[in-house]
Amino acid sequence: MNEETTKIPHATAKRLPLYYRFIKNLHASGKQRVSSAQLSEAVKVDSATIRRDFSYFGALGKKGYGYNVNYLLSFFSKTLDQDELTKVALIGVGNLGTAFLNYNFLKNNNTKIAMAFEVSPEKIGTKISDVPIYDMAELEERLNEEGITAVILTVPAAAAQQITDRLENTDVKGILNFTPARLAVPPSVRVHHIDLAVELQSLIYFLKNYPNEDTES
Ligand code: ATP
Repeated sequence: MNEETTKIPHATAKRLPLYYRFIKNLHASGKQRVSSAQLSEAVKVDSATIRRDFSYFGALGKKGYGYNVNYLLSFFSKTLDQDELTKVALIGVGNLGTAFLNYNFLKNNNTKIAMAFEVSPEKIGTKISDVPIYDMAELEERLNEEGITAVILTVPAAAAQQITDRLENTDVKGILNFTPARLAVPPSVRVHHIDLAVELQSLIYFLKNYPNEDTES
């Protein structure tokens, strides 16, 4: 993200890609404007939060008109640096890692997995969806060569910290951690943790215990 984003609160910044995807779809279908109520319905964020978020973007909705779709689109693509293709790396080509390699991230944003890393000799040297799978021994060298700044971690939990420590010798500043491990990182590195098992368990807990509640979260 560029400098403008530093003024935007973190919670707002995290919702940016969500807004961006929806606005892009609206634009593609020829819509010129959108109301906060329509946005709210589509992205499942309450409209007061949307209005507050959008005021940080300098987008002030007009009563009876809503927001200008072109303005929002150019703001989001500029702020998210989506004009430029961002290459990321994936570490651990198991079930989840393989699914990510097969998933076309370019569909929704300008991000691409450029390379993957493995320890398993059967996988090293092969390709999935055109993404080369390299030996973990080459991790630092390959990442630095391509100037990769973000990685997706889909290795067993036990291997996660040791790999994270190796990333300190690279330009990597962001880790999308799909392992259950809590990672210790220097302050310059940001970790976003997505534990699918915990998320599913939490969803089921809420369904069981709060079945009739409003679902905003
Ligand atoms: P998933 O959890 O993605 O479904 P899985 O059950 O297929 O994966 P895991 O044991 O979680 O397999 O391992 C994920 C992948 O990480 C495997 O392909 C494994 O070979 C690889 N792997 C294991 N240790 C390391 C390591 N230290 N560095 C890189 N890759 C590793």
